[in-house]
Amino acid sequence: MEKRELTCIMCPLGCQLTVTIDGEIITVTGNNCKRGEIFGKEEVTCPMRIVTSSVKTEKGVRACKTSKPVPKSMIFEVMKEIEKLRLKNAKFGEVVIKNVLNTGADIVITANE
Ligand code: SF4
Repeated sequence: MEKRELTCIMCPLGCQLTVTIDGEIITVTGNNCKRGEIFGKEEVTCPMRIVTSSVKTEKGVRACKTSKPVPKSMIFEVMKEIEKLRLKNAKFGEVVIKNVLNTGADIVITANE
């Protein structure tokens, strides 16, 4: 049996989680809601993260992020895809990469300037 101590990052409360792995059975304690349980289980099986970055345009750079979390192991590759972009312009809310690297997440512009 293995125990891992984690901080839930799904909301500002930051509950301290204890994830117990006993073979295929994973239990989470310390969470105040279901999201913490899901986060704790994912974190020990396939950790996921939102990626934030910036896209180069002719008018400067625009902040962007993934529309949903992507596997933590793919963050570097997703960043490389974003770095390849050279756009004329990009507006708030615009999808600049659809389904980046087949993760199911889009790259979305999050600021106008
Ligand atoms: S377990 Fe729920 S209440 Fe606690 S930090 Fe995570 S999301 Fe927030």
